[in-house]
Amino acid sequence: MTSTLTFFGLLALALFIYSLWERADRRKEGVARRIAEDVRAMGDVVAQSLSPSINPSLCIGSGACVSACPEKSVIALVQGRAQLVNPLGCIGHGACATACPVDAIKLVYGSSTQGVELPILDSHFQTNQAGVYVAGELGGMGLIRNAVSQGRQAADHIIAGAHGRAPRRGVGGALDALVVGAGPAGISATLRLMEAGLSVLLVDREGFGGTILHYPRAKVVMTGVLDFPVYGKVRGQKLSKEQLMELWLDIQRRWRPPLATGHLVTGLSARADGMIEVVAEHASWRAASVILALGGRGSPRKLEVPGEECSKVSYRLLEPGEFRGKHVMVVGGGNSAVESALALADFGGCASVSLSYRRKEFARCRADNKRRIQECIQSGSVQALLSTEVVSIEGDAVLLSDEQKRMSRVQNDAVIVQAGGTPPAQLLASFGIQMVTKYGEA
Ligand SMILES: Cc1cc2nc3c(=O)[nH]c(=O)nc-3n(C[C@H](O)[C@H](O)[C@H](O)COP(=O)(O)OP(=O)(O)OC[C@H]3O[C@@H](n4cnc5c(N)ncnc54)[C@H](O)[C@@H]3O)c2cc1C
Ligand code: SF4
Repeated sequence: MTSTLTFFGLLALALFIYSLWERADRRKEGVARRIAEDVRAMGDVVAQSLSPSINPSLCIGSGACVSACPEKSVIALVQGRAQLVNPLGCIGHGACATACPVDAIKLVYGSSTQGVELPILDSHFQTNQAGVYVAGELGGMGLIRNAVSQGRQAADHIIAGAHGRAPRRGVGGALDALVVGAGPAGISATLRLMEAGLSVLLVDREGFGGTILHYPRAKVVMTGVLDFPVYGKVRGQKLSKEQLMELWLDIQRRWRPPLATGHLVTGLSARADGMIEVVAEHASWRAASVILALGGRGSPRKLEVPGEECSKVSYRLLEPGEFRGKHVMVVGGGNSAVESALALADFGGCASVSLSYRRKEFARCRADNKRRIQECIQSGSVQALLSTEVVSIEGDAVLLSDEQKRMSRVQNDAVIVQAGGTPPAQLLASFGIQMVTKYGEA
């Protein structure tokens, strides 16, 4: 009798635990489906660097890839099969592919319908143009440790003079090497070139540190060992954004890499004297070799209107707190613009938040962003200025034109332009660098 009661008691407990487990699974699947729908609202999107392609007929639904992925809600189990629910969140760790027990995942560029354009590089990261290198995420492979390693390898090739142009050691004011992009790849390359005694300059449109500067506060970063030239190895599987920022400060303090910030590089060409000319908006340089370490984010599109050069115009929202008490206008209608307007509205400390967009409605935007911005517009925390275009920017106002070419003047203290950008591939192609488009290829 006792043993029968024990048996049924244990059975009931097992069924109860199973039902809890099943409920948790259903909830997770519901979240995954919502994320997938949210991202699908933007159309056909793919990761710009390597991302997993899952073979559904091999997948056994073990969930090992889901547990292994360090990013949240990128890969999930849907109806018992792994699915890449948010390609935009994938940064190419490849942890999912390594964890899969049945080799159902391979890492690819693009998908069968959406190609990813990449520069054609040799094994030293040199492009079709002698002396011009591409290192880091710009070459199609994400991750900090890859960027550090590729920057070093490209620099090594330059130091060896292996591309046929010996460093010129400052002849006629030219540099031995110019590095564009002060992210992990550019920093690593610059340190290696300095170590070898070459004259080098590191140029960036923003500051020292690259994409990491824009990570969310306290983001946990999976790195592995970072092997920097001169500085040595930085160990730790996981580092926080703040620890990486400390590292950048330490490198700057101890090694003082020659740095020119605030220069958006727009052109590159080979000169008759064998040098390479690199042109930025307000400066140009000549160098025997150039390493392009521009990352994968591209350059922000400018409005090209009078007044855009004034200091109240920026192209990124870092801290909503900077805009306390100000009348802020965000320009654009994609995810970045909508997310900036939402962040400012959530902050609640601005005098006003407006969103100027040239179309009638927000296109190519995540479904959740669309829903939330409509709520803010209805509640009045964001003023929607749809079907408007910025005509000029003045000290205390922005001049807008509507579809009928009627002008209006909006009081304003700050403008954040997020109207898309030039993909890095387009910039590389304009430099004469040969590209290839990959459709779901390893
Ligand atoms: C949210 C997020 C989380 C991530 N998490 C991780 C993680 O956990 N682990 C990991 O290993 N990786 C992670 N990554 C990826 C990692 O940040 C990148 O792979 C790495 O920063 C690439 O380094 P990079 O030097 O190639 O380029 P970047 O770091 O992107 O630096 C490129 C630099 O080039 C500059 N630049 C671009 N165009 C121009 C131009 N025309 N003129 C002048 N300067 C220009 C930019 O201002 C920038 O400073 C994450 C990325 C994101 C967005
Ligand atoms: S490649 Fe990395 S970020 Fe992408 S799904 Fe796999 S583990 Fe996650």
